[in-house]
Amino acid sequence: MCGEISMAEIDQPLSEAILGFDPNELSQRYAKEREKRIRPDAEAQYLRISNDSPFSNKYLEDDPYSEKLERAPLKEQREIILVGGGWVGLLTAARLIEAGVRDIRIIESGSDFGGTWYWNRYPGAQCDIESYSYLPLLEETGYIPKLRFSYASEIYEHAQRIGKHFDLYKDAIFQTWVTELRWLEDESMWLVSTNRGDEMRARHICLGTGPANRPRLPGIPGVEKFKGHSFHTCRWDYKYTGGNPEGGLIGLADKTVGIIGTGATAVQCIPALGEGAKQLFVFQRTPSSVDTRNNKETDQKWAKSLKPGWQKERQRKFGEAFLGRSIDPAFIDDGWTRLTRNLLDLADKANGKIDGLMQLADFKTMEEIRSLVDDNVKNPEVAGKLKAYYNQFCKRPTFNDFYLDTFNRSNVELVDVSSTKGVEAINATGIIANGKEYKVDCIIYASGFEITSSYERRLGIPIFGIDGKSIYEHWQDGMRTMHGLMVSGFPNLYLCGGGFVFQLGANYAHGIDVQASHVAYTISQLRNRGIKSANVSIDAEERWITDQLETEGSGFILGGSPDSCTPGYYNQEGTSKRYRNVNQETYGKGVGAYVRLLRKWRADGTLDGLDLD
Ligand code: NDP
Repeated sequence: MCGEISMAEIDQPLSEAILGFDPNELSQRYAKEREKRIRPDAEAQYLRISNDSPFSNKYLEDDPYSEKLERAPLKEQREIILVGGGWVGLLTAARLIEAGVRDIRIIESGSDFGGTWYWNRYPGAQCDIESYSYLPLLEETGYIPKLRFSYASEIYEHAQRIGKHFDLYKDAIFQTWVTELRWLEDESMWLVSTNRGDEMRARHICLGTGPANRPRLPGIPGVEKFKGHSFHTCRWDYKYTGGNPEGGLIGLADKTVGIIGTGATAVQCIPALGEGAKQLFVFQRTPSSVDTRNNKETDQKWAKSLKPGWQKERQRKFGEAFLGRSIDPAFIDDGWTRLTRNLLDLADKANGKIDGLMQLADFKTMEEIRSLVDDNVKNPEVAGKLKAYYNQFCKRPTFNDFYLDTFNRSNVELVDVSSTKGVEAINATGIIANGKEYKVDCIIYASGFEITSSYERRLGIPIFGIDGKSIYEHWQDGMRTMHGLMVSGFPNLYLCGGGFVFQLGANYAHGIDVQASHVAYTISQLRNRGIKSANVSIDAEERWITDQLETEGSGFILGGSPDSCTPGYYNQEGTSKRYRNVNQETYGKGVGAYVRLLRKWRADGTLDGLDLD
């Protein structure tokens, strides 16, 4: 059967009695569940929300959290422009300042710093990575998170704290969308245009627009016909729902709400919706794997005992534990390391032999997660529908202690739309699924973002380099870079924190810091050496592509080949044959190896692979 997990990957000597499940049966079930969801239209099933589409104002440009401010267009020249004021913009600015570069401009579409944490304020929003490793620059700003897993408002406040600490507000312009980037060869400068009529020049551009900058809508027939209220989770309408990110959605007490999607976002906001709404319909195509959260308050004694350098050390250890190496005790009960724990446990039972055990460890992990559904959901039929049948990292794992219990509420109904590969239609008054109309007052789209669609579709900013060549033309046969950062023909342009960082491991903010430090080094070196333009040679780009291909499939985190995984954004809705094909770049060795690689490049000191002018 297409996409079935190969039994050659499965170690036979460990008997079913030891394992507690039949690997063959699970393998067949996984393949069946995948087949049920594969759609020939793949990524095209989603509607792109662009600045000029009918949905743009409501789902992209309008900021429900702030009033729009008017300002005069700017004409200026800067050493560096950072596009985006999320982690990339903040971290790169911080690392540049540490490296002695101060002439910075930050352009941000939101009304404050924070990026994804500015926009995503839905109730229950929380970081799934432990905050001590995830929240950037904790030592530099002297802050210790209150909880092991921070809620969104604390993370947003931390973004503001970084802005204040490094005095970045004076360098930032908010509510501004970059509309074009153009390399001016005669001046060795980038020309930056914006929707505010700005015309700015900069020697260097760092693109920190993040992978989740553009929400997407499911292209359900009739989606534009709905006459009730609707919004996307990343533009939460508290004026309508009442309450705040902590819950208390009293505006929904007399409302019937339909939520479309059950990914990481939905898992976090559904408990508050279940509590607040008169009636909630949850439209589920694929269940998420929902592991326990076990949040804890920060142990103040531990916090006081931390020694300088602790955060980088912790980030490194988290990366290792996640990648299947030794597990530091700090992460022994972390949901991200359950698979590693199971792998090491099975290896123990197989007398230390680890080869061939990965698939079994994954089955075991998912069996444990499926058993949590039975523990928490009273109705066995509903419980059956909530169980995820695929390898753990086929889709983004989720962690929540309130989600499953929400389906025990009498006002919450799970509507399984897997057999029709999604919601059938939307009309003026409701949602059609399984041939039935569910009348709703409000539709909430928890339908995700353009995370792995083509860079052009996701970013949408025209970028013209040497000879006026479009970057998307340069990438017509696949994305090409050096180090996932710089592109041949586009001098002094750095793609920080793009899809590439997604492949380094689960802690996205750590990967960004690694890149930010590297970009700060590169820019300060170019400045100190009086170099105006640094362009990656074609040869260096080729070398990086070869290096990357060698790492493909070597990562521990993969947990199943892409063509045996159920569709989702990790595998371009089931069409990708490559591992975690985020924007067509791949790097299987993890963050530690990437850190070492960049460190070696810097130590060499020759700025290898860059044509300098
Ligand atoms: P996702 O893309 O993960 O989920 C979209 C959901 O919409 C899926 O459940 C999908 O179903 C469903 N869907 C799409 N089209 C239809 C349709 N036609 N009918 C029914 N259902 C449909 O988006 P999220 O916003 O949940 O998450 C995106 C990412 O954001 C996460 O993977 C994660 O990286 C990040 N995130 C991080 C958090 C953190 O803690 N740091 C918290 C929340 C999000 P299907 O699965 O079948 O395609």
